[in-house]
Amino acid sequence: MSDSLPPLRELLATAVGAVNGAERPGQVKMAEAVEQAIAAGEHLAVQAGTGTGKSLAYLVPSIRHAVGKGSTVVISTATIALQRQLVDRDLPRLAKALKKSLRREPTFAILKGRRNYLCLHKLDGGPADDPDDQVLFDPFAVSRMGREVTRLREWAGDTEEGDRDELVPGVSEQAWRQVSVSARECLGASRCPIGTDCFAEKARAAAGRADVVVTNHALLAIDALGTAQVLPEHDVVVVDEAHDLVDRVTSAATGELSAAAVSVAARRVGRMVEDDVADRLVECGEGLNMLLEDVAAGRLDALPEPLRATLTATRDAAHACVTALGPEQRGTEPDAASARKQALAALEDVHDTAVRVLEAFDTDTAHQRDVVWVTGDFGAQTPRPPTIRVAPLSVAGLLREKLFGENTTVLTSATLTLGGSFDALARQWGLPAEQSHAVKAEGAATDKEAPSDDWKVRWTGMDVGSPFDHGRSGILYLAKHLPPPGRDGLPPAYLDELKELVEAAGGRTLGLFSSMRAAKQAAAALRETVGGEILCQGEDSTMLLVKKFAENPATCLFGTLSLWQGVDVPGPSLSLVVMDRIPFPRPDDPLASARQRAVEARGGNGFLTVAATHAALLLAQGAGRLLRSMDDRGVVAILDPRISTARYGGFLRASLPPFWPTTDPAVVRGALRRLDAAAN
Ligand code: SF4
Repeated sequence: MSDSLPPLRELLATAVGAVNGAERPGQVKMAEAVEQAIAAGEHLAVQAGTGTGKSLAYLVPSIRHAVGKGSTVVISTATIALQRQLVDRDLPRLAKALKKSLRREPTFAILKGRRNYLCLHKLDGGPADDPDDQVLFDPFAVSRMGREVTRLREWAGDTEEGDRDELVPGVSEQAWRQVSVSARECLGASRCPIGTDCFAEKARAAAGRADVVVTNHALLAIDALGTAQVLPEHDVVVVDEAHDLVDRVTSAATGELSAAAVSVAARRVGRMVEDDVADRLVECGEGLNMLLEDVAAGRLDALPEPLRATLTATRDAAHACVTALGPEQRGTEPDAASARKQALAALEDVHDTAVRVLEAFDTDTAHQRDVVWVTGDFGAQTPRPPTIRVAPLSVAGLLREKLFGENTTVLTSATLTLGGSFDALARQWGLPAEQSHAVKAEGAATDKEAPSDDWKVRWTGMDVGSPFDHGRSGILYLAKHLPPPGRDGLPPAYLDELKELVEAAGGRTLGLFSSMRAAKQAAAALRETVGGEILCQGEDSTMLLVKKFAENPATCLFGTLSLWQGVDVPGPSLSLVVMDRIPFPRPDDPLASARQRAVEARGGNGFLTVAATHAALLLAQGAGRLLRSMDDRGVVAILDPRISTARYGGFLRASLPPFWPTTDPAVVRGALRRLDAAAN
């Protein structure tokens, strides 16, 4: 039927007209490529710079396909901000604009994991969650949680969708857990006395009827992991903010095990099984607690024998509890059924994670699938009890089999090529080496394909460019004359350079630092030496700080990771982006260091494949904060001289937008002064 619908170009023109936009060449090129990919059933990766209008470029062909074929297209995003933009702004306008051409109004829905929705059964008196040790350690947390739960009960009377993200300001994870359930804990709509009014069930039903379902990368990952079928039947997936896909999927596939989790599972199952069966699990929790206190935080390359023995005992004790619990008896009351489900979910979590941790050490480095590390800090201001974490070294196999193997997939973002090639990210997604023959920059990654990569998936990489003229609108300042960054905070020369740049720009500076410590140090130093206000992340909510920064051009905003990707401030309030150092992962980052080691075990270059790729992606994202509208002008300054001098520097520079490059501080300060004067 899609052939009887108006052609794509006509629909796109109608859609663009409805949002008062102008047709943009990159947008048209992208929309046509998406349509072709869907028709041919081939995957597509599209890099589309800020201002391309990429959401319409994938939404219009997606809607045309869904309406024409009577199927569903899933759109996945990394951030709530983009999810809201799609559901609250783009899709309602598009649905109305395209109604006449498509002869019916296309439908859309948003779907998140069950834990994101208020569970009315739990709110109505279902079994409450046990507070975890973090709360018990903090005397203020208990009363704070009580206040938050009271607020949640009031909100429950007003909300129409029961979606946690609607609640502003939000509540702590612990409070939210008192009114929500995981998919494993849910009774199921047919058993639940409130099933017909359930928010999560309503969202699922709406998603099942919709042409377009908007979701997040975590739910996409849970669907791919196959633990539960959470997304409705679909044949096309569009992954927006695809630069974040691997991190989000890795997080969703990360397991956690702590002594508190074992105790909670034992408490929940307590009265449902014989005492001696539950007591074995209690003892395992106590044993784990004592052992983990002596394990240093960080990656575990070998499993200490006492820990192996305790994990084995924990695995077996959890399994014995599940066996003793047995199948649910007919006629069980909903509250009892719910308590049983909660116990079972906790036991299965403990059991499955213990199995995963034990199996992670059963193989050599080259074939290792999971990495294990311990986090926690009893000495911190808010103590964090030790927790064992287990995460996949690679999600390439999962994505290749479950995402690319089962759907036509379109991946898009402003940053998908690194060093001039899609290779680095394609490798992480499980796609074979690039098929668009771009020239790779010197110093690019050299990983070999994983041994199991014998199934070739067809895909195309396409860069539709950017509407910005980077060479005329922005300067890339590489401060080659500065010393390399030190271990003990920012060198004095960096602070002097920063001060001169900020003064020349008249404020208007976004400082992106590789650590919170460096951001605070820079903020403290500049508050003593420059005139305007210096805002520093952590001193208020990031949303409020960004708002303040955008409203007053004389202010500067300094911060770390979330600012590298999340700030969108068009106009003269932002004309200088400064990055203090190349944002390599910390050497003690357990996942990055294990991934690096695994690449080396296969004969590749671990540093370039993992650390340089990570840094290139963040640098490109950070530099992307500068030009947000067609009139924006400014400077991206990188203080770390290694980007000019190191062998991998070429790869990093080739990952940045094509600004006009210079190493001359006087030229940069002159340009910033002129921009400041023009804006005043
Ligand atoms: S169906 Fe599940 S999520 Fe919905 S109210 Fe019942 S128990 Fe809660």
